[in-house]
Amino acid sequence: MSTISKKICLFGDFGVGKTSLIRQFVECQFSDEYLSTVGVKISQKSINLTQQKLGIDDSLKLQLIIWDIEGSNKFKAVAQNYFQGSKGAVIVGDVTQPETLNHLQEHMQTFLTVNPQSYIVVALNKSDLVAKEYLENIRQTYQFSDQKQILNTYVTSAKTGNNVDEIFQILANHLV
Ligand code: GDP
Ligand code: MG
Repeated sequence: MSTISKKICLFGDFGVGKTSLIRQFVECQFSDEYLSTVGVKISQKSINLTQQKLGIDDSLKLQLIIWDIEGSNKFKAVAQNYFQGSKGAVIVGDVTQPETLNHLQEHMQTFLTVNPQSYIVVALNKSDLVAKEYLENIRQTYQFSDQKQILNTYVTSAKTGNNVDEIFQILANHLV
């Protein structure tokens, strides 16, 4: 089995659940406390991929190096430095805070300016706090399907784990 490493970034407004999504993915844990992130925090997790594309019956281990990046204005210039060398990003908004969703496009552009050849997944987080019947509507509003590097938009919950593995998996599939 061969191993490769890829850097990905989580980016979005303050308090949308970036740190919580990473924690759920890496440690399968959630906390209601605010896990303050100053600047950047780096975590890692390895996942197995099957090399179907190559027709080889061998599995590939992908080590994801996950950068948790604060997106507030104060850190904007610094954030761009943290994006260097990243092939993918999860841009995160909070379905209970509409202004964080309005900033998604801007965050994606900031990331793509540094890494024009990268892929993006959009996570509309805290889906556990909104009634199910509204979620599909919200998801469709933030589809960005006209931009081909934006793979898809998911409603996620770092609390229940809804779609958490999926966002990392779909990104990982495009990195190799
Ligand atoms: P960050 O600033 O984007 O890293 O946000 P955090 O991960 O620190 O989360 C901010 C707050 O929202 C914390 O109190 C978390 O417990 C809470 N939170 C994060 N994700 C979710 C979620 O999916 N559902 C709910 N109910 N709360 C969440
Ligand atoms: Mg954080």
